[in-house]
Amino acid sequence: MAKAIVIGAGIAGIASAIRLAVKGYQVDVFEANSKPGGKLGEIKMNGFRFDTGPSLFTMPQYIDELFILAGKNPKDYFDYIKLKEVCRYFYEDGLRLTAKSNIELFAQEIEEKTNSKAKEVHRFLEKSATIYEITHQVFLERTLHKLKSYLHWDTLKSIFRFLQIDPFRSQSKANEQFFKDERIAQLFNRYATYNGSDPYQAPATLNVIPHFEYHFGAFLPKNGIYGIVTALVKLAEELGVKFHYNQKAEEILFIDSSKTKIQGIKIYDKIYKAEVVVSNLDIWFTYKNLLKGIDAPKKLLSQERSSSALIFYWGMDGNYSDLGLHNILFAKDYKSEFNAIWKEKTICNDPTVYINITAKHIRGESPNDSENWFVMINVPANNGQNWDLLIKEARANIIKKISRILNRNIEKEIICEQILDPRSIESKTGSYQGSLYGNSSNNRFAAFLRHPNFSKKIDGLYFCGGSVHPGGGIPLALLSAKIIDDNLPS
Ligand code: FAD
Repeated sequence: MAKAIVIGAGIAGIASAIRLAVKGYQVDVFEANSKPGGKLGEIKMNGFRFDTGPSLFTMPQYIDELFILAGKNPKDYFDYIKLKEVCRYFYEDGLRLTAKSNIELFAQEIEEKTNSKAKEVHRFLEKSATIYEITHQVFLERTLHKLKSYLHWDTLKSIFRFLQIDPFRSQSKANEQFFKDERIAQLFNRYATYNGSDPYQAPATLNVIPHFEYHFGAFLPKNGIYGIVTALVKLAEELGVKFHYNQKAEEILFIDSSKTKIQGIKIYDKIYKAEVVVSNLDIWFTYKNLLKGIDAPKKLLSQERSSSALIFYWGMDGNYSDLGLHNILFAKDYKSEFNAIWKEKTICNDPTVYINITAKHIRGESPNDSENWFVMINVPANNGQNWDLLIKEARANIIKKISRILNRNIEKEIICEQILDPRSIESKTGSYQGSLYGNSSNNRFAAFLRHPNFSKKIDGLYFCGGSVHPGGGIPLALLSAKIIDDNLPS
């Protein structure tokens, strides 16, 4: 039986392990942490449970697909609900919007409460659908790094329609033109942050992202996001995959001195042999730490990283009926917020605050009459800023902002707290500079510049996860595993 090793038990590492096991490999996963999941982590404190990383779950079909591939019924392992309400939006001028998954209702609410018309929303979402139609097979579901991808008829059609993906103006410029009311442009600009980018720089192609939420839907796993990890690890183990925790890979080894064929990996001077090695590490650390003596792709690795996050996990005494599962409290001056993050590499005084409360839907997430708040702001990747000071200031500003908008003093209702910042994101999940999604997509060619999912020079070496093609976020990380699967030797 051929052997495969996966380094890292992030979501893409686990998905790769499942796919390799289904293909008949004997698979071992080596994970540096004591638990699987990587950025999909969980913490429990004082009777509260929190997902530590992702909170928004889209494209659940990519998870279901793994169970189906293994001949299992996904519902026996993992269940989720489709949300009727996508997000609640709060503006400093008092405007409140509830984005329903029913586009008619959402567009109607926008027409009733703002200067934008329902038809602007419909036109925008039609454009979003067109970008998806042109890009998904070519840029998301296939490798860009093999000639065979370009020989498909749909690829050629997409190339002819390239201008329709709106690559030459920024997302904010496009949205200013779609929407008469700048608050609605702001609402749709927010989607650039879904892959850690800046709407004032990133191409309008990123307007594809709302299509995932408004066409396919937003979902919530019934056991929280960490339930995805538990279910996939269970499936992998049933397929014979062996997980080894607290095992930090030190080096990828080669059979030959010219380093063209994989031999296996090294951990604490022990050698584990395999024909296939998949690295789920941030590509930056794969080259820096594991591929000794191999020339790193310098241009790719020196690109601007995506943004990071500052998160407060607060156990809150009380219930907050104004808030739903996903809530956004917008900065008054959105442009200044992004200037602070991207140009000044700091945090502004009035950041946009995201609050996620799974206790709104899942029982047992918090004690009675209390809620588990995941409170996040976007911040720059770690470049050695004085984080202790920035966190202290941001905490005070966030509390002031939420209290102002909800008209309730929330500070005294915080029962317990933990904090995650760019430094701890890097140390806990191995993400260079603590960035959430690998490289940023501020550059219009970023989609083409991500690292391939296999090595052209080293036989048996593959790469998966949010820092390589096709990109960050749970759905794309899962697609990276699928692309590896499609490109394994038959
Ligand atoms: P990672 O999660 O990066 O895991 C890599 C694993 O490799 C880790 O477990 C690490 O310990 C291990 N490792 C590192 N070095 C070694 C070594 N030498 N040996 C062995 N193991 C090693 N995505 C969404 O879709 N929706 C969201 O709402 C969302 N919000 C987010 C919020 C936050 C705060 C964060 C941090 C991320 C968010 N994301 C979101 C992004 C998403 O979490 C990531 O894109 C995705 O989880 C990346 O998965 P990955 O497979 O690349 O592995």
